[in-house]
Amino acid sequence: MKKIIPIAFIVIYVAALSLALWFTVGGGAPDDVTSSEASSEAISEVTSSEASSEVSSVPLNGYEETEGYLAENAERYLSYAAKYKKLTKSEVVRYVNCGFDKPFYTDIKDSPNKDNYLVLVNKYYNLGEDFVPKDLKSLPKAYKSTSYDVQLAGDAYDAFIEMSDAATAEGYAIKGQSGYRDYAKQQRLYEKYLKNEGGNQAAVDLYSARPGHSEHQTGLAIDVTDGVKSMGNFGKTESYKWAKENCWKYGFIIHYTKENKFITGYDTEEWHLRYVGKDAAKEIFQSGVTIDEYLMGKIEATQAQS
Ligand SMILES: [Zn+2]
Repeated sequence: MKKIIPIAFIVIYVAALSLALWFTVGGGAPDDVTSSEASSEAISEVTSSEASSEVSSVPLNGYEETEGYLAENAERYLSYAAKYKKLTKSEVVRYVNCGFDKPFYTDIKDSPNKDNYLVLVNKYYNLGEDFVPKDLKSLPKAYKSTSYDVQLAGDAYDAFIEMSDAATAEGYAIKGQSGYRDYAKQQRLYEKYLKNEGGNQAAVDLYSARPGHSEHQTGLAIDVTDGVKSMGNFGKTESYKWAKENCWKYGFIIHYTKENKFITGYDTEEWHLRYVGKDAAKEIFQSGVTIDEYLMGKIEATQAQS
């Protein structure tokens, strides 16, 4: 019996020692985790090297050195540049980053800044059926070229009066022909034009906004005349020349020009003035950017801050 006890102790001791050793080295489950981690690392390495070789196979044509360049837009820059050959690389990058390369009325988003005069409304941004601006006011008779009601919202109203008075003082005339239009009215107008054009939507889209996409629904846009000629002939008047050079001083911009048709999707409308406030109008006029691009930049800046 005396000899058996030490032997039993040795057996237990050896068994315990080998068990401890097995845990220290690390058997079973922990080993599996390590090996699966290693293999997923290997996979991600392979994937990223494949991805980078794909990107570098696209000819970047120097776009990667252009300010604002985004690698994910690389192919869009090239196809936009192929479509509009006169654009500089910087313009291509800016416009594609704004999403202006997408077909009109696709990828439509809710208009930002609806509560102020930097609201963006175009063929990519929609105001919604229920949007009605605050502080709508009707222009007095002397500031209109129609017997119908012409309304503008808030600061746009005061700025229009100020601009119209300045034009008159210098021997010109800027009169309101059509101001605020609600969603339902824009819908009726668009449908009427569509009927006139025999259902040709592309033709109507050149001169009429689809409901929810009209700047007139913001209460910040106004179609004008010189009080003599029709609205469509405003571009041929001396008053138009005055407006073109001076309207920014009062916070207005002529939105739809021949030069920016490819961005706005509208034919030239010399008579359509959009209020953006004096600071924005000055920047837009001096830099020559479109209202759309300027307001997109403002939205990006706001998003970056928040
Ligand atoms: Zn208009």
